[in-house]
Amino acid sequence: MYSELIQDIKKKLGSELAVLAHHYQKDSIVEHADLVGDSLQLAASIPQLKARFIVFCGVDFMAETAAVLASRHQLIFSPDPEATCVMADMAPHSLVRTILEKVSLSGKVIPLSYVNSSVGVKAICGEYGGSVCTSSNAPGMLKWALSQGDRVLFLPDKNLGRNTANLSGINPREIHILDIRNNGNNIQAGDLADKKLLLWPGVCAVHFRLKPEQVMGVRRDNPGAFIVVHPESHPGVVAIADEAGSTSRIISFTKEAPTGSTVFIGTEDNLVLRLKKEFPDKNIIPLGAGYCSNMAKITPQLLARCLGSMIPEKAVQVDPKLAPHARKAVENMLKVSLQ
Ligand code: SF4
Repeated sequence: MYSELIQDIKKKLGSELAVLAHHYQKDSIVEHADLVGDSLQLAASIPQLKARFIVFCGVDFMAETAAVLASRHQLIFSPDPEATCVMADMAPHSLVRTILEKVSLSGKVIPLSYVNSSVGVKAICGEYGGSVCTSSNAPGMLKWALSQGDRVLFLPDKNLGRNTANLSGINPREIHILDIRNNGNNIQAGDLADKKLLLWPGVCAVHFRLKPEQVMGVRRDNPGAFIVVHPESHPGVVAIADEAGSTSRIISFTKEAPTGSTVFIGTEDNLVLRLKKEFPDKNIIPLGAGYCSNMAKITPQLLARCLGSMIPEKAVQVDPKLAPHARKAVENMLKVSLQ
């Protein structure tokens, strides 16, 4: 019933409407999407879209990023503004500013935030000469950020930070996980002089569930099977896997795996189960990350309701004081990573 309603509205609005969905959305949402992608693909698509109404099926920071990049005539809507990201919520922007000011006593610190962060955090990155990154372009963006100052504050995901540092050849002794408790009062700027990379201690509630011991057991019990994981996973999990990459890389890895092979996939289960349907010639098994409860908040009912009430008052609003700085941070990423 909701599916018909959604299709009717889509038909009526035609090219005036674009429905975007993240790979972690369920099939009943993805089937209505004009574009399905990872964070980078979806963000990069915004400036090219001609549609006046853009409905973003994902979590809040994605819709906010879209609103930052949208042109004046475009309105961004979220079927459920309560769908937030646990990882992004671990880095409140006021605390990020306080910590950045503290660590900056050690020299020029460039903030580099994963796109899984609030618009307030992205604005701080833009304001302090930093940028944002996605899991697919994190190594290139970290290299760029390191060239802009004495050290980099990478946030909010410590696992993506550690995995990116490993790929970039940064010595573990040059990495420091910040103690953000007590408003950052435990941080001593003098201790950071020989550090290149300062990590915010956030994690993804989904990929955090994958434990090195469990993945080691899968490896032991399934000789010959492939294991591919998302780099938000623990570095011990990434070390055991055959490949770690963004959702787009996980998809291409699965596609390229030989017919008849077994592939264990460590990412959100909606994507894993979709790949299982798409590639019946392979034995595709979820590694056990499970579902993201916030991504799951978007339902066909909420999508239909959203499509039926796209008035400017309901569009995603970004604080006009934050928007220019946040846009600068995102544009820096698009400039560096897409060149
Ligand atoms: S999967 Fe992890 S990073 Fe993605 S929205 Fe859910 S909690 Fe946030």
